[in-house]
Amino acid sequence: MNTVTDIFGSMVFNDSVMRERLPKDVFRQVQRSMNEGRRLDSAAAAVVANAMKDWAIEKGATHYTHWFQPMTGVTAEKHDSFIAPVGGGKVIMEFSGKELIQGEPDASSFPSGGLRATFEARGYTTWDPTSYAFIKDGVLCIPTAFCSYGGEALDKKTPLLRSMEAINREGLRVLKLFGNEDVRAVKTTVGPEQEYFLIDQSVYERRKDLVYTGRTLFGARPPKGQELDDHYFGSLKPRVRAFMKELDEELWKLGVMAKTEHNEAAPAQHELAPIYTTTNIAADHNQLTMELMQRIARKHGMVCLLHEKPFAGVNGSGKHNNWSITTDTGVNVFEPGETPAENAQFLLFLCAVIQAVDDYQDLMRICVASAGNDHRLGAAEAPPAIVSVFLGDELNAILNAIDLGAPYGSREKELFKVGVHVLPKFPKDTTDRNRTSPFAFTGNKFEFRMLGSSQSISGPNVVLNTAVAESLRQYADRLEKAEDFDAALHELIREVIRTHRRIIFNGNGYGEEWTKEAERRGLQNFPSTPDCTPEYLAEKNVALFTRHRIYTEAELRARCQMKLEGYSKVLHIEALTMMDMLWKDILPAVSACTGDLARAANEKKQLSPAMDVSYETKTAADLSKLAASAAIHGRALEAAMEGLKSEHESLAAARYYRDRVFPAMQSLRAVVDAMELRCGAKYWPYPSYGEILFSVK
Ligand code: ADP
Ligand code: MG
Repeated sequence: MNTVTDIFGSMVFNDSVMRERLPKDVFRQVQRSMNEGRRLDSAAAAVVANAMKDWAIEKGATHYTHWFQPMTGVTAEKHDSFIAPVGGGKVIMEFSGKELIQGEPDASSFPSGGLRATFEARGYTTWDPTSYAFIKDGVLCIPTAFCSYGGEALDKKTPLLRSMEAINREGLRVLKLFGNEDVRAVKTTVGPEQEYFLIDQSVYERRKDLVYTGRTLFGARPPKGQELDDHYFGSLKPRVRAFMKELDEELWKLGVMAKTEHNEAAPAQHELAPIYTTTNIAADHNQLTMELMQRIARKHGMVCLLHEKPFAGVNGSGKHNNWSITTDTGVNVFEPGETPAENAQFLLFLCAVIQAVDDYQDLMRICVASAGNDHRLGAAEAPPAIVSVFLGDELNAILNAIDLGAPYGSREKELFKVGVHVLPKFPKDTTDRNRTSPFAFTGNKFEFRMLGSSQSISGPNVVLNTAVAESLRQYADRLEKAEDFDAALHELIREVIRTHRRIIFNGNGYGEEWTKEAERRGLQNFPSTPDCTPEYLAEKNVALFTRHRIYTEAELRARCQMKLEGYSKVLHIEALTMMDMLWKDILPAVSACTGDLARAANEKKQLSPAMDVSYETKTAADLSKLAASAAIHGRALEAAMEGLKSEHESLAAARYYRDRVFPAMQSLRAVVDAMELRCGAKYWPYPSYGEILFSVK
């Protein structure tokens, strides 16, 4: 077992394993439940469970777990061994169909945003047969969804599966109108590009801020950062290469198609991109990728930072969510086709996305909002907080021609007519160059670039799938009734372009100009998490999610509250960490440095009164002044924390943290970073930015 093709999927209970180990009729039942969402009957489930157990034991597994994705954003597992007593002090290895299909973890400590208080304390996990079971660390992991007793989603997977059903339903209606009778299912596919930092474990462990919060809360700029762009796509350091090799192999064993690994813009920053797959599987695989990155980094004496902004003044990390819609007949609906009919269909799906992004800009912003990601969005290194769509010049010109009823391009003499003309091919290169756009059409897929590096991709794909399903629903309703399909289609496309063209922007998203222009266009701009999150409950958004049965209103309320509480908790921990660092480490260190300078000045004077002690006295004076200021800012931060009232609602509390606590943290940091630049290295209690960023040799 050493070639890639041998190890790929070797720890996955996939189709070929099932074909080999399951009776034909049971295999067919599993396939049906995977492709058509039908439930497996209990007899078949028992057979599958037993085959899974035998296979897992052969691979060295002793335990199984329902593997799920609670609202914490990381995955959860509770291991049970296969053993069952048979008397005489002996055990056998058992795994029943019931244990495969449903589990009941003790769920009382998972965040639920109040859902469990309203309903039931227990939570259930149910098997998602569309995502293969796999073995990780000797444990058979069964991908599951996690719901309350009353059926409310308590996880990130349930709404994702529901949103995939919505786009399947509405997508099929639209495809039927174009005569695609053979299409039985529509799926969305995703390839998430994952950014991360790798630093040496020894520097990590000496930074309380990294250990407690995942990002540096203090740190003066190093003499060298990313100015020279010499890291981007640079050659890999041997330790990093060894890490990536092991990561690839472990991911391949789990059936994750890790494809591209390279250095990113910032020193110590890297990226991994897999080959795209069905969305719920891509979401599972991205969770596994993040987990393995962290574990394997440790094995190589490094720590993988997934935080969106670990270092000020250096690029942060995001995740690009490449997304498209594909039929079970293998057609990507965003691939401009060869015939006029195919292109009419392409244009309508394109319109569905443009309208979805415009109608639900707020949801697109909310689904990527977090305390960590707020540091990036709009900071001229990541897309702005304003949502817009990049189409590229060529496609834009076509939409203009349709809108104006004008000839397209210099070669076309006739008016461009949907369903009559063939679209030109859009070469990828002309469309993929604008890296400042939050949402870009890149030839045959859309790239949603606002996601934070640490977040689950489920939320953003729930929004994308549901919002596009809603556009498609409206189009199907209208076109199904049309007497002249071609004319109605042309009119619809023209209307959508006209109504929603304000969301299309092909220019520089980082410029101050765009912020003003976006405001003129009436686009929304939510700089922070507390700004956008309440929009979750806007009437149109509740209507969208309840209509497509993604979230009930109670589930939405719960998610809104959890997002706000999560934001406040992060800032709370950060502020406490800063105070701990300030009083316990930083000020005593500066005091020691100042004392030594004063003693040195005295000793020099004693040696010879004529000796120059200006460096010592001036530096000691500077440091004393800065230390006094830092102490004042530290107390101000404490006062800000104390000003928070326990009766604050989650929104009021989040706003308070943003408006009162965060600015106090920033002011404190500025003073401390100035001290770091003046203080002798041997006194400073933490590794510097330079030491951290260039720690992996
Ligand atoms: P880039 O120029 O951004 O590197 P790539 O073509 O390498 O673009 O693709 C980046 C990601 O997009 C990869 O994960 C790839 O698998 C994914 N991707 C490509 N086609 C699709 C598609 N049709 N649907 C979803 N993701 C896709
Ligand atoms: Mg990309």
